[in-house]
Amino acid sequence: MSMALESEIQQNRNMAFRLQEAAKSDRLERIVCELMSELGLDLADQHFSGTPVRVARLYRELTRGYRLDPSETLKTFHSKCSELIVISDINFNSLCPHHLLIYRGKMHFGYVPNGRIVGLSKIPRLIQNMASRAIVQEDLVSEIADTFQSAVSPLGCLVRATGRHDCVAVRGVKCHEAQMTTVALRGVFRDKASLVEEFNQVLTRRET
Ligand SMILES: [Zn+2]
Repeated sequence: MSMALESEIQQNRNMAFRLQEAAKSDRLERIVCELMSELGLDLADQHFSGTPVRVARLYRELTRGYRLDPSETLKTFHSKCSELIVISDINFNSLCPHHLLIYRGKMHFGYVPNGRIVGLSKIPRLIQNMASRAIVQEDLVSEIADTFQSAVSPLGCLVRATGRHDCVAVRGVKCHEAQMTTVALRGVFRDKASLVEEFNQVLTRRET
């Protein structure tokens, strides 16, 4: 083995050792190290040496919703508007609580104000913050609708999500194209089918 190659290998080992030492100060990074070594991965390999840090950071980001108060983002303004408002094509990603794998997709949101409206960017923020948890898609839409109802008190709201789940795509049935759609209706959307129809029409006619 050439001296240059030997020294490069040694450098990589030193780097891996330093990262493993650093990881000891962070419990999550240490747990990722343990997971990797249980799986037989060589932590001295150059591609794995920074992985515990990255994976810990990734899962913290994917679960940041637990450390936020979702209703805090919902600053409201007075308005006379009492018509349907639709915010569409809001991308989101969340974690399946059964496998801790990602599911991702789009949500469409509609509401009918009752004297108060919210800033446009607040709805995507609410959705993305609430999705940054390990939660089934069925409960996610319900919780978003309930949070919006209690923070803004509109006449009603509708949340529709369509997601593709990695746990369905990469394991078990391995259905790459399967999608799930979940809907939550609150207030006037439950009582008036014509309002849901209007919502669907707005979505059909929107510019894509
Ligand atoms: Zn799953």
